[in-house]
Formats: sequence, structure tokens, C-alpha cells
Amino acid sequence: MKSDEILSIDQAHAWHPYTSTIDRDPVYPVKAARGCELELMDGRVLIDGMASWWCAIHGYNHPVLNQAAREQLDVMSHVMFGGLTHAPAMRLVKSLVDLSPEPLESVFLCDSGSVSVEVAIKMALQFWISSGRPEKHRLMTIRSGYHGDTFAAMSVCDPVTGMHHLFSRVLPQQVFAPAPTSRFGTACAAEDIGAFTALIERHHRELAAVILEPIVQGAGGMRFYSAEYLSQVRALCDGFDVLLIADEIATGFGRTGRLFACEHADIAPDIMTLGKALTGGYLTLAATLASRRVADTISSGEPGVFMHGPTFMGNPLACAIANASIELLLSGDWQANIQRLARIMAAGLEPCRGADGVADVRVLGGIGVVEMEQPVGMREIQRRFVERGVWVRPFGRLIYLMPPYVITDAQLEHLCGAVRAVVGAS
Ligand SMILES: *Cc1c(COP(=O)(O)O)cnc(C)c1O
Repeated sequence: MKSDEILSIDQAHAWHPYTSTIDRDPVYPVKAARGCELELMDGRVLIDGMASWWCAIHGYNHPVLNQAAREQLDVMSHVMFGGLTHAPAMRLVKSLVDLSPEPLESVFLCDSGSVSVEVAIKMALQFWISSGRPEKHRLMTIRSGYHGDTFAAMSVCDPVTGMHHLFSRVLPQQVFAPAPTSRFGTACAAEDIGAFTALIERHHRELAAVILEPIVQGAGGMRFYSAEYLSQVRALCDGFDVLLIADEIATGFGRTGRLFACEHADIAPDIMTLGKALTGGYLTLAATLASRRVADTISSGEPGVFMHGPTFMGNPLACAIANASIELLLSGDWQANIQRLARIMAAGLEPCRGADGVADVRVLGGIGVVEMEQPVGMREIQRRFVERGVWVRPFGRLIYLMPPYVITDAQLEHLCGAVRAVVGAS
């Protein structure tokens, strides 16, 4: 298919994420992707700063992941998970249990990040129903969060950027604490945890769980907050008999410099969600992990089973690629590598701090953020990045880099240079 034809069908019929079918955003036809490069159909090659929404940690077209996919294709692409089990899924389940914080022992495989959040929420609700306390049915979270686009997930996204007003008639009303202001690497300010404490004290009798993104709030604002805040939240959940759900969909598999962001605070959640980088960006797959206590309580109450079961649960092809991706990650010195990314981005983005309209510059692990004072004009800024040979897709006031881990020094320096040029820093 030629570029023109792709664009004309796209224009007439395709719906892209968060877009209008009338006032259409430009799209760039891509021909192929390899390593950290996207090749457009017009021949231009862009250095990838997004890892395709934070998934493609090993870059594109990786020989090891390709091989894992080919081998599994010749065995079986899919079989139902009801009543059947298989090696690719069990290898994955075992490694997720081994790698994740200690009490997480039961793994529910599912299709996408949002679904894993739905599953986590359903687990929390069923846990309290089975415990004879069905009145504990609400969730508490912190503002500026993002947990996905399905309904229960949406109900715990930031109430402003998550557009609660559109769906207020159907969304469950949850409890929102202010977003923590204490930055990562600093102690937790008394006001931050004070506000959280007041709310959990007031609402704990009706709260099933607290759900949050540990350490890094991603799509809700790219904010990095104090590890001490997270450990105090854990303690408050314990004190008030409320479960803690850690949404590690964006942070899992090393992005923040630790395998899971919870490790920065040395805490373990009762339920944890994983997705995005799980298959190295090859296929959609997610997982919800629960503690033995949560799993066994659900299983011993009414109706005695956990009420969820997606068609493509445990998809062997996706699991085989996830296994290869995790092995590939752990086979190298990934921590030193993430520090390398952090170092280059810190040096490369810091000069933006002085530029007009820049509110903040921050880096944590493989995440570099330039926060502007005003929302960026998406179409214009996207075009300027493409002109400079990079793929960077800002949102709201945020220009950020979350490159594949395999990016070279030179490629990452080029990305930082493009960000500096676009914000007018020299
Ligand atoms: C991306 C994301 C989700 C949603 O995952 P999808 O695969 O897009 O459904 C949920 N939580 C967090 C923290 C995310 O970053």
C-alpha cells in the first residue's frame, strides 16, 4: 500500500487515540522500525524518544524477541486458558512471582493495562465482600494519577484531566487526596501526608483500597514524588485496614532505576498491576498480582471464585515474548544502563531550565521531563520534532523522553538537543 492510500483510508475511517474524526490531527505513515529508529514511508528516519508509549524497552525488531515469537508461532499462538495451562504462561507467572515484592504470589494474566486495573479493583472489592464487609467498596487515590481508560480505571484517574465531568452520571465516586508535592529524593512534607491521613481517617470504613502509581505519576503529569510519602501511605493503609494497589504499568521493569518503583520505598502492595514493557512492546499483555491473603480470601468467600476471565487470557505468543523480554532485560547490567540514560538526560535537558516558558526540568531513571508553563500546541510541536529527525510526542504542558533502554549515547544526545531546540534553549 502506498503512503497516499494509507493516509486517505486513515483520513476517512480510522480513529486514533484521543482524536476527532472531523478536526483531524496529522499522522505520519511509518514503514518499519528497528533498534531505536522509526522509518517513515517518505524515507525519513526518526530517533525514537517514546518507546511507543513506554513499552519498547529493547527497541524495535529485536532479534531475540523476534526469535522467541517465531518459535512460539510454530508451537501454538493461542489456546484458551480455561481448563488448560502451558509452559509459556507458567514460566511468566513464576518469574513475575520471583521478581515482584515478597507477598505477591497469585498472578492473573490479562490483555491490557486498563483491564489489569479493572481486575485489581475487582479483586479489592471481592476481597471485602468475601470478608463480610461489603460496605468497603470505594477507592481512594491521589490527584494527577492515570490508570487507564475503562470505566473503573477512569474513576480513579485525575478528576480534571481524566474528564470525570463527561461521565459523572456513571462513574463511581471515589475519594481523592491532593497529589503529593514532596519531590522524589526529599523527605515527605507534613502537609502532604496530613491531607492523605485526614481523608483515610474519614473514609476508611467504606474504603476497599488505595490505588496509586508508585513514585512516578505518568500520563497524569509525569510527577516524581517522595518515597517517604509512599511508605507512609503503606503504613496508613495497614493501620486503617485498607488494601494498597500499586499500578506499576508505567514504572515496572526498570524504568525508574529499580525493577519496580515500590522498591524505592521498600514497600510491598497487596495488589500490583503490570503492563506496558511486559512484552518489550511486542504484543498487548498485562498482569495483576495479588498477595496470598487477597487471593485466598476471595476464594474462600461467596461465590468462591474470582469473577473474571478474558478470552485471550495467558496468550502463549505474548507470554513467550514476555519471557524473552524479561530474560533479555535481566541478562545485562540494566541498572547501570538506566543510570546512563539518567545522566545523559540530566545533562542534555538541564539547559532548558533557563528558557522562556519552561516551568521545570526533571529526570528520574529513564524518564526525562521538561514541563512548560502553558500547554504545548501539539500539531506544531510534533512537526518541529519530526523536522529534527526525532519522534517525541508531548501532551498538555509536558515534553518528555522515555526512550528504549538500548538507545545509544549519541541518539539520546540528539533527542535532548531536539528538545532544547524546540523549547528555545541553547
Ligand atoms: C498506560 C497505563 C495504564 C493503561 O494501560 P493500557 O494498556 O493503555 O490500557 C494504566 N496505568 C498506568 C500507570 C499506565 O501508565
